Amino acid sequence: MSDTTIFALASGGARAGVAVLRLSGPGAADALAALTPGKAVPAARRAALRDLCDPRSGEILDQGLVLCFPGPGSFTGEDVVELHLHGGPAVVEGVLAALGRIPGLRPAEAGEFTRRAFLNGRLDLTQAEAIADLVAAETSEQRRQALDQAAGALGQIYEGWRARLIAAIAHVEAGIDFADEDLPKDIDRAARDALAVLAGEISAHLDDGRRGERLRAGVHLALLGRPNAGKSTLLNLLAGRDAAIVSETAGTTRDVIEVHLDLGGVPVIVADTAGLRDSTDAVEREGVRRAAARAEGADLKLIVLDRADWPDVPDDLRALAADGRALVLVNKADLAPVDAPGDLDGAPVLVLSARTGAGVEAFIARLTETVRGLALAGAGAAPGPTRARHRHALEEARAALTQALDGWSNRGPELVAEDLRLAARAIGRITGRVDVEDLLDVIFADFCIGK
Ligand code: GDP
Repeated sequence: MSDTTIFALASGGARAGVAVLRLSGPGAADALAALTPGKAVPAARRAALRDLCDPRSGEILDQGLVLCFPGPGSFTGEDVVELHLHGGPAVVEGVLAALGRIPGLRPAEAGEFTRRAFLNGRLDLTQAEAIADLVAAETSEQRRQALDQAAGALGQIYEGWRARLIAAIAHVEAGIDFADEDLPKDIDRAARDALAVLAGEISAHLDDGRRGERLRAGVHLALLGRPNAGKSTLLNLLAGRDAAIVSETAGTTRDVIEVHLDLGGVPVIVADTAGLRDSTDAVEREGVRRAAARAEGADLKLIVLDRADWPDVPDDLRALAADGRALVLVNKADLAPVDAPGDLDGAPVLVLSARTGAGVEAFIARLTETVRGLALAGAGAAPGPTRARHRHALEEARAALTQALDGWSNRGPELVAEDLRLAARAIGRITGRVDVEDLLDVIFADFCIGK
């Protein structure tokens, strides 16, 4: 438990009807008493209306609701006080300044409330990360994933795995300590089989197509095609606003423009890239280079073709469609009829007119379905990793576990136990159960003040 008491504005910085200041630490209740002279500190978890005064001058700074959450049952595990003030800058600044003059109090650092909650055992690291994700969530599916994780869904999986590893370590170590007593062979086989099952579970969990990470960070789409194919027009249609410049002159989309969309609850980042063609203009060439690079890293490519390029699709564009991560759009269907296409080297082909809107609804429906498939696991599926940090630790655990299984009967129990310990430690790092000091700064650096 910390002996300092921290305070911060927990609500956002914007002018608002209500602002919430939060205090946590042993001096929280005394600080409240100092701001509300002559008044008793309210009962636990009961709101009370109070004048809040500057302890030095006695001047009333605001009237608001105050709440006490005594530790250890509070968010941080410490004594917590919340002040619900009028959310104007002068009120907030005045109360923050008054708090800063109370001995033993200091402004909180970024993420410090959640960090204290972790250090006091109120939540594990996956839950702490989920709180940051929940605050950052922009779409309904992101919110769902973060809430699930905040409730411990992911942490429980990892803790369950770690418990099974620890049980196996105990078994193997029993074999070391009591070698002469000949542990029954079938027990040994059962332990090994159980670990093989665990290795399979970890592999299946890792093999989720990075859906959890994609949902957290956004599905990346690249709009690709010749200049004037209609990419910008299409992007504007998707975005419902004039995000990219639409022009009659070829090659005006020189840089990469990003538009953030919510498609079926999944965050999508669409990059409109420069037209793919040979160009003598150095700036446009740079744009084309970036377009190609963008396409490499994209989760899905939208290849926009002018109907004149269908069905004889130029080779470079056709090559982009070939890797199974593309939708082909034959645009400008208003100018002349387009033969009913099926697919292009396995990539679905849709016909539309960005100008008249014909076929656009079907395209958006298809795109939404594809994007949801990339970012969401099926209904009822167990949650997957949501950060590269989880993935790396799990891969390390799986490698150590595989080594233990491979060497089970010939490497000797000491080495097998050591491999299992490595695996358990790697998984323990995800939830923060072991050697995490160096990790904490990295994780809590993502937070802003007041969380
Ligand atoms: P980009 O270079 O691929 O981004 O293409 P733009 O979106 O700038 O479009 C180039 C030109 O094609 C503009 O004049 C658009 O108005 C026009 N255009 C885009 N989509 C359609 C369409 O479906 N039908 C017709 N007739 N013209 C279109």
